This record gives sequence, structure tokens and C-alpha cells, in this order.
Amino acid sequence: MSEPKVYKNLIGGEWVESRSGQTYENRNPADTRDVIGIFQDSNADDINDAVEAAKEAYKHWRLMPAPKRGEILFRAAQLLQERKEQYARDMTREMGKVLRETRGDVQEAIDMGFFMAGEGRRLFGQTTPSEMPNKFQMSIRQPLGVCGLITPWNFPMAIPSWKIFPALIVGNTVVIKPAEDTPLSTYNLVQCLMDAGLPPGVVNIVTGFGPTAGQPLVTHPDVPVISFTGSTETGKIITKLTAEQMKHVSLEMGGKNPMIVMDDADLDLVLEGVLWGAFGTTGQRCTATSRLIVHKAVVGELTERLVERARTIRIGNGLDEQVEVGPVINEQQLETVTRYIGVGRDEGARLLLGGSRAEDGDLRYGYFCQPTIFADVDRTMTIAQEEIFGPVLSIIPVGSLEEAIDVANDVKYGLSSSIYTRDVNKAFQAMRDLYTGIVYVNAPTIGAEIHLPFGGTKATGNGHREGGLQVLDFYSEWKSIYVDYSGRLQRAQIDNAE
Ligand code: ADP
Repeated sequence: MSEPKVYKNLIGGEWVESRSGQTYENRNPADTRDVIGIFQDSNADDINDAVEAAKEAYKHWRLMPAPKRGEILFRAAQLLQERKEQYARDMTREMGKVLRETRGDVQEAIDMGFFMAGEGRRLFGQTTPSEMPNKFQMSIRQPLGVCGLITPWNFPMAIPSWKIFPALIVGNTVVIKPAEDTPLSTYNLVQCLMDAGLPPGVVNIVTGFGPTAGQPLVTHPDVPVISFTGSTETGKIITKLTAEQMKHVSLEMGGKNPMIVMDDADLDLVLEGVLWGAFGTTGQRCTATSRLIVHKAVVGELTERLVERARTIRIGNGLDEQVEVGPVINEQQLETVTRYIGVGRDEGARLLLGGSRAEDGDLRYGYFCQPTIFADVDRTMTIAQEEIFGPVLSIIPVGSLEEAIDVANDVKYGLSSSIYTRDVNKAFQAMRDLYTGIVYVNAPTIGAEIHLPFGGTKATGNGHREGGLQVLDFYSEWKSIYVDYSGRLQRAQIDNAE
């Protein structure tokens, strides 16, 4: 094998080594003999340099007309389109999910690029009549400055794109610390922006680990905005670390997403949906279907068919087009998943399929886990309550729609949910009562499109949304402007009350 490529930090438009000279290896989770590249193991010194560069770039970037900024984003999205296949392959190598899905991940970045490029010619504010004569008033969006972005490994290009594109279109600059397991996809995304003509310093990449590279970014006094996607534990740390400085913080964290199946549902459709929702991306989506809440009248038949089909799922290297499910991201995650499976067994859930690491043949070189199904899961069990982030599905039988919704809502998270029914009344009741940020009807819990708000209730988030136009509210601040052209002092609420 040839020597792995060394990737440097991107600071002020230059590729630079970490100040400490430390690096780390990024390996393929499907085959750990394959080194994707050597990346910088950065620390606070590198973050300081990157923030300085982003501050400098902000002086000019915020003044570039938004339609011009949009043109750069548009060109970047076109370049992503041209390079989609290569970037999808890079992503499968570094993250593990199958090519079909990594193509979708790159596509999401393309969609977001075009969407936000268009916003360059909108970024609508309001005009509204004044209560005084000869007075004009409006509201406009203002950028905030340097945004610190911290991203996870499961959507290694899509999630950075959800943050970078909206931040940029409003006129902010960025320092991004991508997940240690998947930095290459962030490089690929940012490379397109640079090739599209992004000025130096507008986006800076600093790679490394959470506590050493992420945390100095979170606490940096010149970074007023932090957008984070990752675990609830890290989200809590970030909340505490930023409270004193009262930063703008957007947190996107865990899920324990339920799919409700009523007794009138189309079971063929359910079957396809649950396989995709539970085992797609090896269950490593924050929106993955991890609880299947099924009406007792159909739970027997559905469970039998599901186990029969899931048994045939092909596990392996995602670059093989025949493979349906790739590895989990790393050894630690594999341990977490197998630990939860053990807990499920100990608590009395009935293991119907899978339950351990898959190590046949070449699979032993990667972190593979068998698709796992538990039946007779009680709503209070650990595997029905905690996020596992692996290919593990818990089937919970219920007797009515009301019970199903009650069980669905009875977890600390509130990201996504779904219901399968042919009864429009039940569908609307569920749309109203499921307390999650996203609800699907007759579709699994995954499949968000970028132009609607994405995010969740309760411990999933802190009230912000990514995606949609709503994301612009996070990356901008409103400024209300009053222009009095009457030539005299007019006192609102006072002069007009007479
Ligand atoms: P996951 O379980 O998805 O890896 P993490 O929350 O550990 O979730 O990681 C998500 C992102 O947060 C990664 O980029 C990681 O490096 C970063 N991170 C982890 N710990 C911290 C921290 N203390 N401060 C800032 N960023 C962190």
C-alpha cells in the first residue's frame, strides 16, 4: 500500500500543520488495515490561529453582497455534483455506510448549497407601516461573526453543509472542527467552496479530538456562535461551558425514534420502512427507527416477517454494491452496542435475531454488528429508553393508538416519529400528539429534506432548528431600523396617542 496522505489544517487559506506537530490516523471501519489519511491532532493554539483568520476574513466577507456570496455557494454545489461519486466513495471508506447512502449524504450537501445560494437573493426582512407619518421602518438580518461548528461522524458531509452554507450566506465566517473519525468529507466539502472562489479565512478547518480541539473552540471568546451536533453528554458540557459568555448555541443531539404500526397498516410497506429505518446506516442515524410500537393484532405476523427478511441482510464493506449494511464507526461504538444488547437480554427482552459482533471472513478486520431484533420489549426497559446508535430494534406491543402515542412520547428524546395506518383520523391524531420535531406518516423515521426545519423536542435539542429557512434565524440577528423623514421629532407611543 502507498503511504497515506497527510492532511493539514486549513487556516486563513493555507494548509498548515498543527502547532504541536501531533497527528492521528483515520482508518476504514470496514477494514482497519486501510488508512484513509493522516490528520492533524490540533489543540488550542491551532484554534486560536483559525479564529484569528476567521475574524480577519469576516471584515470583508460580511460586506460582500449576499447575492455574490450566493454565487460562490452555487458554484460549490455544482462542483459537489461533479465530484459526487468520488466523494461518496471517500465517505464510505472513512465512515462505513454503503455507497447508496453516502451518495445521498453528498446529495444533501448539494441540495443545501443550492437552497442557501438562492437565499442570497432573498434573506427577506420586513417592512411595515409606521404609526407616525413620514417615517419608514424595516427589519434586516445581520451576521454575528465567527461561528464555531462541531460535527459528528454519521453524516460527515451533510451535517457540515447544514451548518456551513447557512452561516456563510448570512455573512458569517466559520471555524469547523469535524468529527475525528470522518474529517475527509469535511475537507471535500470545503475544497469545493475554495475551488468556487471562497476568499481565504472564510472557512477554516481544524481537526482533532473533542476535549483538545473542540473545547477550545467552544470557549473561545471571539466565537459568539456554536453549532453542535453529537451526543447529549457533549451537548451538556457545551451548554455549561458557554453559559458564562452567553453564546448563541444550537444543539442537535440524540433520539429514540418510534415507528407506530396500527392494525390497519399495509404490512408490506411497514416491512420495507422498518428495515430501512432501523438498519440503514447501521442504525447510526439520530433519526434511526429504534422502537417498533406495534398493535397486538398484527405484532405476531409482522415480527415473523421482519425477522425472516432481516436474517438475509448482507453485511460488509459498503463499497460493494451488493452490501446493505456496513460497519459501525469504531471499536468503542461496537462495544457500546454489544453492551446494550447484553442489557436487553438481562432485562428479559426476547432476542430473536443477531445479538453479537459479525466476524466471518474479512468482516473480522472491521467493526461489524449483526442486525439485532428484540421482541416483547417493555416500554421501561433500558433498550426502550436509551439511544443505542447501532442496528438494534426493539418491538413493543400495544393495544390502542392512545397507548402507542403514550409509549412513543415516553422517552427523554423527541427527534422523529412515524405512524403507519390507513385511517386518516388516526394519522391526524398522531400528527397532533406525537411530541417530536419530525413526524412521518406511512414512512419510516428517516428521510428529512433540507428545506423543512430539522430538529427535536426535549433532550434532543435546545429549541433551535437546522434546515428550512428557520436555520437562518440561528446564524443571524435581527436589526430593526426606523427612518424618520418628517424633519421633526416624532415620539412613538406619545405623539400619536394625542
Ligand atoms: P458521538 O458519540 O457522535 O461521537 P460526541 O458528542 O462525542 O458524539 O462527538 C460529536 C463531536 O463533538 C465530535 O466532533 C467530537 O470531537 C466533539 N466533542 C466531543 N467532546 C467535546 C468537548 N468536550 N468539547 C467540544 N467538542 C467535543
